[in-house]
Amino acid sequence: MDRKSFIKTMAMLPLATCNMKLQDLSKWAENAPNTARMPALFVGHGSPMNALEDNPYTRAMKQLGQTFQKDGRKPAAILVVSAHWLTEGSYVSISPKPETIHDFGGFPKALFDMQYPAPGAPETAKQTASLSNLIQETDSWGLDHGAWTILVHLFPEANIPVFQMSIDYYKPMQYHLDLAKQLRNLREKGVLIIGSGNIVHNLRMSMGRFSTGDASPYDWAIEFDQWVGGKIAAGNYNALAQYEAAGNAGKLSVPTPDHYIPMLYTLGLSEEKEPVTQVYESVEFGGISMRTFQVG
Ligand code: ZN
Repeated sequence: MDRKSFIKTMAMLPLATCNMKLQDLSKWAENAPNTARMPALFVGHGSPMNALEDNPYTRAMKQLGQTFQKDGRKPAAILVVSAHWLTEGSYVSISPKPETIHDFGGFPKALFDMQYPAPGAPETAKQTASLSNLIQETDSWGLDHGAWTILVHLFPEANIPVFQMSIDYYKPMQYHLDLAKQLRNLREKGVLIIGSGNIVHNLRMSMGRFSTGDASPYDWAIEFDQWVGGKIAAGNYNALAQYEAAGNAGKLSVPTPDHYIPMLYTLGLSEEKEPVTQVYESVEFGGISMRTFQVG
């Protein structure tokens, strides 16, 4: 199925919007107890094979996950905004038992055999939908590989409830930054929000170079990855809604914005002057940036 018909199919799925409960839930943001503010993450997910591999990147993800095992840091729930769930409209998944979706082809059987059996978080998902009238509920999605291939390293025990939010692929970049701002309160309620994509993601050119046995990064990939890193360091997140401003490097690094947009959610969740810690930086396969960072 091509991207356009996929998005169309998703948009036509029946919605499980629960109007009755909406009023009760709108009180939730005020009434639920606050916890220590949860950080927000952006994780570069790269190849699905990372789920099976042990390499410097997966070790860094394991280490990052362990920082959430300390007292008071364990998330009550995890919300993933993945590059691999594109829809018309913004949806949260209310599945009580999200299925592990193997949304790729041409990989070894061992990858298709992998499961991430974490429970869903239907109540937290409904509470999330109550925070913005732009978000609707659906039970038609589980965990795509943008979510589970990183969670197997971050939280290998799969015992924290997980839900996903989709990306409205018909909206301008600023929409995502603005929608994320409406979700900031979730961080006060112990929800760990993870944007999962890749800042530089040019599969066609990466595979072209990689197939010749050359995995060295393209100059434009390094240039754009650093351009983004510089804007983040300067706290200039609004500038990142205009990646075209990075010229040819932006065009080549973001041929389609699906993998770039999750980062805008992570940054939109940031409070004023909140520190950002770079967790991992590398450009792999020529044109895939694995840059991963933490807000707060
Ligand atoms: Zn991906």
